[in-house]
Amino acid sequence: MLEALSKPITYVKGVGPKRAEIYAKLGIFTAYDLLCHFPRDYVDYSQQVEIINAPDNEPCAVKAKLVKKLPPAFVRKGLTVFKAVLTDGSADLTLIIYNAEYQFKSLCEGREYILYGKLGGSFMRREISSPLIIPADSPDLIQPVYHLTDGISQNIIRTNIHTVLESIGGQIYEPLPSRLMQQNSLCALSYAFENIHFPRDPHSLAIAKRRLVFDELLTLRLGMNLLRQRSLKTTGCVMKEYNISDYYASLPFELTACQQRAIGDCCADMCRPWPMNRLVQGDVGSGKTAVAAGAAFFAVKNGYQAALMAPTEILASQHYETLSGFLEPLGIKVALLTGSLTPKNKSALKEAIRSGEYQVVVGTHALVQQTTEFKRLGLVITDEQHRFGVGQRDTLAAKGENPHKLVMSATPIPRTLAMMIYGDLDLSVLDELPKGRQPIETYAVTGKMRSRAFGFVRERLDEGRQGYIVCPMIEENDLELQSVNEYAEKLRTGEFRDYRIGLLHGKLPAAEKDSVMRAFKEHETDLLVSTTVVEVGVDVPSAVIMVIENADRFGLSQLHQLRGRVGRGQYKSYCILITDNTSEESRQRLKILSKISDGFRISEEDLKLRGPGDFFGSRQHGLPKMKIADMSSDTELMLLAQSAADGITAKDPTLSKPEHSGLKELAEKLFETPQPQA
Ligand code: ADP
Ligand code: MG
Repeated sequence: MLEALSKPITYVKGVGPKRAEIYAKLGIFTAYDLLCHFPRDYVDYSQQVEIINAPDNEPCAVKAKLVKKLPPAFVRKGLTVFKAVLTDGSADLTLIIYNAEYQFKSLCEGREYILYGKLGGSFMRREISSPLIIPADSPDLIQPVYHLTDGISQNIIRTNIHTVLESIGGQIYEPLPSRLMQQNSLCALSYAFENIHFPRDPHSLAIAKRRLVFDELLTLRLGMNLLRQRSLKTTGCVMKEYNISDYYASLPFELTACQQRAIGDCCADMCRPWPMNRLVQGDVGSGKTAVAAGAAFFAVKNGYQAALMAPTEILASQHYETLSGFLEPLGIKVALLTGSLTPKNKSALKEAIRSGEYQVVVGTHALVQQTTEFKRLGLVITDEQHRFGVGQRDTLAAKGENPHKLVMSATPIPRTLAMMIYGDLDLSVLDELPKGRQPIETYAVTGKMRSRAFGFVRERLDEGRQGYIVCPMIEENDLELQSVNEYAEKLRTGEFRDYRIGLLHGKLPAAEKDSVMRAFKEHETDLLVSTTVVEVGVDVPSAVIMVIENADRFGLSQLHQLRGRVGRGQYKSYCILITDNTSEESRQRLKILSKISDGFRISEEDLKLRGPGDFFGSRQHGLPKMKIADMSSDTELMLLAQSAADGITAKDPTLSKPEHSGLKELAEKLFETPQPQA
């Protein structure tokens, strides 16, 4: 990077130690960081309207000559009102400024200004209060607006950035090979930095933005590729072809084509001299566990142990039941390691794992990861609800001799996004559900139908089935905790007084959550009232109905995940979405769920309708935060950046050629900040 830009920000003229401290709060430490503090918005003085045509109460710019300043009115102590009359020929405009005497004094009669703000007043007497004002001959008609923090103003940031740009005089380091710039029609980086901060016109701004978004996505993809390279160290667990038809034959069902393909991918990966790093992504119910078991079978037949880690105890024991059901008839011993074992049993079990007596170990992350020794660990399988931070999984890889890694994820996301988010992993997609799955019949109704819906739930419970009711809330704070309790109490004493009710919410201690869930699973309760914490992945085959309150507050993908808790047995299942939002938009949205049962397609619709919030708002993906790219809408650039990055990686996998040193530096910088856990 250009020397001058990587020095501490105090080297910038006009930035002393005090201001540097303030900049640090914004994550800005160097001049380069400052250049990368991109505007969050712009004030566009260039698109002016005539006063007579100016919209009511919507921000706009007008150009007008100041005709007359009126004498100030001292309304009361601390409130002085300054007024002036302006005109642009189409109509007059009264300017109103409160208290800002200094600003008012700087305005001159006879001069032209551009005012940006909301026009009010009557049709005949239009007025504008406290607008932004610049002289009409000002060269910068589009002004950046930055995220601020205490002690710093827009003007200071603008001035400091201006100083930095001046000091390098267009000589900014260009990290992109010129071939790439041409191929992707990109402007120079210096042009981009100048015009993202001080755009000449909207067109230049668009060009600048395109370049910076491209760079960010390219850097992200290159960083992912580097991570992937890093995991291409050798493994001590090179396996050999083995015919796993015994496994297929022992299953109570026939695997779908995509399940078989995924198992095939895994087996092929494990035969190579570097560790597998694969993600199996599939909708709820697509049968990821059978894929994991197939991979584990292959590893065991090669003389290795396999470990499967789940986020919670209840999921661990569920996986244990499935895996032991599939594998024990084939003579494979499966262990379940959970916190509820007595210390004596636990240490005996660990000893048996260390000695290799157990070939497959299922447990929670904490147990398997931190305290268990293996005889010959060859495969680590992780069941994730969301994606963990990129690179975090590596802590587990330290066990054994670089064992193979398989990750299972139930969050379907559109393909273009998956390629970005999971760029460091190879991907197997389960995009076909096992045959004979009945779609979950889904209805959207208003609150008026609530008691009928509850009646329908009672009928199912009377048939010996179970159900879920998802509470009317999204966030878990104390106030809402109270409302969850009240809501459950109302059901308990009212509509469902003759039934056994469990209550599950995020504020419960983990052990209690587990026991509520277990009671439901063992049908000691009929109805589970729950917030959205109701676990992804828990199988309760006799649960056939779910009612979701305030359904319009959730994203479609989230609703789809939730309803995936039912329909996991042989019975016909239902989902009732209750909402009092009768807007056409909300109805259309929820109708998608009644019509579509494919999680991938739903996630695409969701992305279109709600934007990136659902996927990126909560940073579920664990990727570095993007400064300017928007991974939901910059699809075209995403594909371009991806193929550019992959082209570079193909020729120079570790980015060690001199012409790629700038890119390497950027990619490493992007991934060096610690990622939060999902
Ligand atoms: P998920 O992908 O949501 O984790 P699971 O692995 O829990 O799905 O599988 C859901 C259910 O489907 C389980 O009861 C499993 O035994 C069953 N299953 C898996 N594969 C098939 C298949 N090919 N045909 C029929 N049932 C299957
Ligand atoms: Mg699962």
